This record gives sequence, C-alpha cells and structure tokens, in this order.
Amino acid sequence: DVTATKGNEFEDYFLKRELLMGIYEKGFENPSPIQEESIPIALTGSDILARAKNGTGKTAAFCIPALEKIDQDKNAIQVVIVVPTRELALQTSQVCKELGKHLKIQVMVTTGGTSLKDDIVRLYQPVHLLVGTPGRILDLTKKGVCILKDCSMLVMDEADKLLSPEFQPSIEQLIRYLPASRQILMFSATFPVTVKEFKDKYLPKPYVINLMDELTLKGITQFYAFVEERQKVHCLNTLFSKLQINQSIIFCNSVNRVELLAKKITELGYSCFYIHAKMLQDHRNRVFHDFRNGACRNLVCTDLFTRGIDIQAVNVVINFDFPKSSETYLHRIKNLRAIGC
Ligand code: ADP
Ligand code: MG
Repeated sequence: DVTATKGNEFEDYFLKRELLMGIYEKGFENPSPIQEESIPIALTGSDILARAKNGTGKTAAFCIPALEKIDQDKNAIQVVIVVPTRELALQTSQVCKELGKHLKIQVMVTTGGTSLKDDIVRLYQPVHLLVGTPGRILDLTKKGVCILKDCSMLVMDEADKLLSPEFQPSIEQLIRYLPASRQILMFSATFPVTVKEFKDKYLPKPYVINLMDELTLKGITQFYAFVEERQKVHCLNTLFSKLQINQSIIFCNSVNRVELLAKKITELGYSCFYIHAKMLQDHRNRVFHDFRNGACRNLVCTDLFTRGIDIQAVNVVINFDFPKSSETYLHRIKNLRAIGC
C-alpha cells in the first residue's frame, strides 16, 4: 500500500532539511502514492479533496506539507488538524511530533474528555500546530484562547465522519474563525454524497485525488456465519480456537455489549481489553496504548474505534454485531492490511 508508483523521492519536494531527517528517521524511504499526489499540491496552497484507502499513508500526506508550511519563528497556530476521535488525535499528533522531531514546531493535542483548564494554560505557550476533535477546538476558539487568525491550513482527516450531523456544525463554525486565505485539505477513505454540499460551499475548486480502486478489500478474506444471538459467544469461541490470531478487534454495537462480551471472552480464557466511549479518557488512552504495544491479543470495542486507527499487528476483525451500514463495515475491516487475513 505504501510502495511508491511514480518513483518520486522525498527530496523532490524541497522540504526543510530537518523535516527530511524526521521523515527518514521514521523509516519512510519513498513517498506512498497518496503522498506523491498530495504533498506537492498541498505545498502550492491549493485545497484538496483526497480519497485513498486505509493504510496508504494519508496522515503523513497532510502532516508533511503542514510541517513544511509552518514558520517556526512565528508564534501562532498555523495549522489545525481536526479528527473525529480522541485516539486518532493522539496518534496524529504523535506522527507530527515524530516527523517534526528536528524542527522547533510546537504541536498541541486537544480533545474532549480532558481538562479544559489545562488546555487553556497550554495555549498561553507557543503552539504552531493544533490537533484535536471539533468540539473542543471550537470551545477554545470561542473562548478566545485558541486564536486562528493566522491559521492558513485546516486539515480534516476522516472527513466524511467529520461531516456527519454530530460534527458538521462545529466544523462550519470553526471555519468562520479562519482567515479568508485558508486552505482546506480533506482526507477520507469514503466520501458519501453529503460531502458535496460542504465541498461546494467551502472548497469549491479543490484538487481532487482519488486513489480508490474498487478493490478496497483486496487481500482481505471475508467470512460470514448465520448465528443466533444466544450462539454467538460459542461461535466466537470456535473461531478463536481455529483462527491464527495475531491480534483481533471485535466490534459490538453498544457499550453494554462491549463490556459483556469482554467479560465472556476473559471467562473463556482469552486475554481481552475493551474500549468504548463511556470510559474515562485516561483509561481509554492507556488501553489503546497497551493494546498497540501487544499487551493483549483481543480488543472488544464499539465503532468509536474504527476510524483511522493503524495497528499493524491486527490480522482478524470480527463483526460480533452486524454493522449498521456498509460504510461502517468497510471502516471496521479496513484496519486489516496483512495479506490473507
Ligand atoms: P491511512 O491514514 O491512510 O490509513 P496511515 O497514515 O495511518 O494510513 O499510515 C499507515 C502506515 O503506513 C503507518 O504505519 C505509517 O507509518 C506507514 N507509512 C506512511 N507513509 C509511509 C511511507 N512513505 N513509507 C513507509 N511507511 C509509511
Ligand atoms: Mg488515517
């Protein structure tokens, strides 16, 4: 997925030397196709509407131009990256910090569920790049502590999700605080028709990148089983005994069912973590972090967890509860990238 097609090199973009160092130290040798498409365009200041499947390197596709464009001597928020979940905000800010390791760019992450006061205090220090969830960023902006008049780039990752009724009003309000010259970059694996209206209003002439082929599920083997509700756990147990699981993510449709299932799985003798929206943020972060580090084989969660999360060791996704839409299904299983999952 991240193998280059055009044969471009990161040197071709005339990036700051410190940024190039960060890129190579992160282990990236060549830009992936989505990066080849978006880095040079984003650097020109054009709006972008980019669609590419999961695992293709979209994060760096916007983080690299963002870091390149920031003037580190100017004490102002110059880039805002909006994402739909807290976990993704943390992960994205981490990527920015790693890529920008040799730059003097201050990255701040801000999400709901954490202390607003701490964020306010933090914003009195220099911040160049802000990553966060829409509600919190808007909150801080309305309070006048987050000042966006010098923010020339707004990135919307998992953009289709950000345009769901839950988030879209906040996004639109946020845009009003940006200068007229702002650039908007939208990235997603899926763009439902509802995006069109937003696009027409805020980025009428974007550079469109579409790297989706119809083979979104290539390399992923899918199975289904008709199972009565009361047989589901039994069926799962059978799967556990038959599948070669490196790490698995198991999706349920509600907080309660997540907790119940996690308990059952543990009783069956398998190691299991769970994450859902009703858990305290610190706890969620810890679980996510530990799962990522391989502390546990199985993770039960709600769809909270489907967006953009990149955990390479996951080779099995189980839809314990039927996803509510085909898009949810795609987002759930696209986390799989190894062949023959
Ligand atoms: P997406 O957002 O498209 O799902 P991510 O940005 O999460 O994808 O990247 C997926 C994985 O690919 C990450 O582990 C990332 O470090 C890696 N990656 C991204 N770009 C490159 C590159 N140019 N070379 C090698 N690995 C890369
Ligand atoms: Mg992503």
